[in-house]
This record gives sequence, structure tokens and C-alpha cells, in this order.
Amino acid sequence: MTKTVRDYIRSIVDFPHEGIIFRDVTTLFSDPRGFRMAVDQLLAPYAGMRIDKVVGLEARGFILGGAVAHQLSTGFVPVRKKGKLPGAVISEAYTLEYGEAVVEIHDDALQPGERVLIVDDLLATGGTAEAGIKLCTRLGAEVVGCAFVIDLPDLGGRTLLEGLGYEVHALTS
Ligand code: 5GP
Repeated sequence: MTKTVRDYIRSIVDFPHEGIIFRDVTTLFSDPRGFRMAVDQLLAPYAGMRIDKVVGLEARGFILGGAVAHQLSTGFVPVRKKGKLPGAVISEAYTLEYGEAVVEIHDDALQPGERVLIVDDLLATGGTAEAGIKLCTRLGAEVVGCAFVIDLPDLGGRTLLEGLGYEVHALTS
């Protein structure tokens, strides 16, 4: 039987904490067919659309987003955790289950009016993606889509992002 993207993803029980089932996409990335399938399916909804930049969310969004950007012949821009980018940045804080996280983008990474595709491996509560979207829109860019390999719908991320008016695509749940 033909394998789907889902078949290449494994679940690791009790990582990073007891009670969490972590979706491990390294097995998807390490398989040549699986990786190509995931990248092709991530960009398929945007065929024929004008995309100027792909924005990848740290860290697995860099692996996927870099490949998607190459395929779309766009530039790639990283959204990184606080303190990692060397140039002048703008920051967004967002709430985690316990505490707060901060993500950053270089303040000259996007130009006003540029059309951006956000890429990450997994959508859970949507907090990370929402912070990434805010960084892009604060620079004047337009987020035309958010593409994920995995959507965990029970955690509400898709509802959050769609409620804010953003288009969400995911390959599997
Ligand atoms: P959210 O902000 O939507 O709650 O969480 C999504 C972020 O956490 C993404 O950047 C994603 O990489 C990471 N993440 C949370 N849970 C998992 C998981 O089970 N597997 C993977 N691969 N990433 C996860």
C-alpha cells in the first residue's frame, strides 16, 4: 500500500514530560520519499499564488520552510527564540502551558506588502504561529497562509488562526 505522510511520523510516549505523546517528525525528514512528499504537499495549496517569503518557525519549521522556499523560489526568513538572531529584532511574547516564551524576527527581514507563507511542523494551541504572524504583520507583510505537517485540532490552534482570518493547511492530524 502507498505510504502517506502520516505513516512516516512516529509518536514518542512521555516526551518531553510524562503524559505527553510527542509527534516525532525526524523519521519523516530522514526518509527521502516522506520528506519530498511532505514538502510537495505543504506547498501544493499555494501553486500559482504570489509568495514573496517563506517564514519558518524554530526549529523544525526551518527544515521544512527552507525546502518549501527553495521549491517556490522565494527567500526564507527565520522566526527564532529570543536572543538567537544577531541583528536588530522585534519581539513577541506568547503564553505557554507553564510561563511565557518570546520569539523574534530581524526588523528588516520583510518589506511592507510582501506576501508571506508561515511554515512549521505542528500546530497545537496556535500560540507559536500567532506570535510568528504578529511579527510578520508588524513589519507590514501580509500572511497569505499557514502550512503545517500536523494539526492537533483538539488543542484549538486552527480555530484560533482561522478566527483571526488566516488560512490554515495541514497534511495530517
Ligand atoms: P503551539 O504553539 O501551537 O501550542 O505549539 C506548536 C509548537 O510546538 C511548534 O513549533 C511545534 O514544533 C512544537 N510542538 C509542540 N508539540 C509538539 C509535538 O508533539 N511534536 C512536534 N514535532 N512539535 C511539537
